[in-house]
Amino acid sequence: MALDRILGQEHALRLLRNALAHSRLAHAYLFAGPPGVGKHLTARQFAKAVSCSVEATDACDTCTACRKIDADNHPDVLDIAPDGTSTAIRIEQIRTIQQRLSYRPYEQDRIVIILDGCELLTPPATNALLKTLEEPPGHALLLLLTHHKTALPLTITSRCQLVPFRALGPAHLRTILERQDLEHEDATLSVMMARGGLTTSEQITAALEARSQAHALLAEMIQNNAQAVFLRARQLAGKRDQCEALLDWLILLCRDLVMLHVAPSRPLYNDDLRPDLEPLARRVTVDPLLETCTLAEQLRQYLGMNINPQLVFERFVMRFGQLVGQQG
Ligand SMILES: [Zn+2]
Repeated sequence: MALDRILGQEHALRLLRNALAHSRLAHAYLFAGPPGVGKHLTARQFAKAVSCSVEATDACDTCTACRKIDADNHPDVLDIAPDGTSTAIRIEQIRTIQQRLSYRPYEQDRIVIILDGCELLTPPATNALLKTLEEPPGHALLLLLTHHKTALPLTITSRCQLVPFRALGPAHLRTILERQDLEHEDATLSVMMARGGLTTSEQITAALEARSQAHALLAEMIQNNAQAVFLRARQLAGKRDQCEALLDWLILLCRDLVMLHVAPSRPLYNDDLRPDLEPLARRVTVDPLLETCTLAEQLRQYLGMNINPQLVFERFVMRFGQLVGQQG
């Protein structure tokens, strides 16, 4: 799996390939975009392309460096994410990075650090990271990943070259799901809840409540129950956080419905809801579902730009009605 197998992110890939082709790598890149669109996968493939001893602007997948990175066994590549127990990136993790960067690379010119989930940096970790970004050693290549760029302070984002990742279009999403190599950045319910910073039982209860709302809403939309749907939209007026959570769950639930069409034996994100999702899946076809996922991802980004959640939500519901209505 090299860079050329990543779908739907032509702009990001062009940017990274140009940097490789001209040997003009920045010290820090910020991969920003919705969850589940391939940021982490791209970061790992980019780390390989940087390290590869055969190819210049991609990874060969077969040289020692490429294989070591695939096996998570390369001394000059560190891949760090919030650890499962704390669901935050702690200052100790940033210190590990700083310590590694204080030495020379062992096997190549650069030390590549992949830091996933940067929206989960604690304030002390943010300050520590900022120090590294202010005076990065010449051999440092930091790849910071986030699906919440606005959650990061400007002091961090302004010191990185932005690599924007887009919501996946329906065609690409379908190919990836059919190929069954969707990057499971947020693969399972438990991982996703952990990544969302859910540690207390109250937070987990709230997330499950948001999921059951999204599930009910999806059923209402598929059954064309306009009254119930618009009542729900009105309740979301001014509630940005709730609206974000609802859209996140809608994306995952719609992907599950697609999965039930294209690869029904595969585990779902919400596998525990399978008996309820199967009859819903039978009522819709794949194309409108794929469009819905893309639309929800786009709207999710609009929410970050201070647009009224109720409007965003009503737009989603209307478009969903049009898409699903089209098939009958
Ligand atoms: Zn290689």
